Amino acid sequence: MRQPLIAGNWKMNGSRTDNRVLLDGIKAGIGDVKSAEVAVCVPFVYLADVQLQLEGTPVAWGAQNLSTEAKGAFTGEISAAMLLDFGCKYVIVGHSERRSLYGEDDQLVAGKFEVARQAGLRPILCIGETLEEREQGITEQVVARQIDAVIQHAGVAALADGVIAYEPVWAIGTGKTASPEQAQEVHAFIRGQVAKHDAGVADGLRIQYGGSMNAANAAELLAKPDIDGGLIGGASLKAEDFLTICKAA
Ligand code: 13P
Repeated sequence: MRQPLIAGNWKMNGSRTDNRVLLDGIKAGIGDVKSAEVAVCVPFVYLADVQLQLEGTPVAWGAQNLSTEAKGAFTGEISAAMLLDFGCKYVIVGHSERRSLYGEDDQLVAGKFEVARQAGLRPILCIGETLEEREQGITEQVVARQIDAVIQHAGVAALADGVIAYEPVWAIGTGKTASPEQAQEVHAFIRGQVAKHDAGVADGLRIQYGGSMNAANAAELLAKPDIDGGLIGGASLKAEDFLTICKAA
């Protein structure tokens, strides 16, 4: 059985005060979350605070990006070792906002996945098609290309140490969630794509859905057999909504 993972992606939101309120709320309700693993992926600058507030609780934490480099003259970058220094368990790689706004391509994302994994972090690999690609009928080609880049670079066994988040770009921050059937179809395809290389890895791989998942639609999505959790943007910024999603898993 795959344990569902509900992870908040705070993106570039929060303040020290707001984060404390949010995490106090999550901690107060986490005891009612029975089956899901829960994590929050926060802006780098808040990692120290978040570590202090979450250490010893069942809630894990992580970052939203990392460098492929280990150390040195890379102004503005953050290494895997630095994330480990603050107790991170997870790191998001290849989020569509990084791919589209910061020019991250499949090769760079694959490099980040492998560097994170080798350091002992659990990378959350984001994949997904744009609206244009869906309308062209090339969703499967796009997600297959994104997964294959990681398999070619790191080997299929590397996926066993990570998580995939299927996030259709047209569903992110738009309020337009993929229907449970649409999401399940792509999730099953993704698992099948990994199974072509290694059936055991595919079977154990957690595949989260992301894109306008909220307290109202989470249960239906999470009931699908190949949807193993969620990567939550907007709805992870309110403790009550986030906990409702966690409990639905
Ligand atoms: P929203 O939940 O705000 O649509 O964001 C999804 C996402 O991008 C999570 O990584």
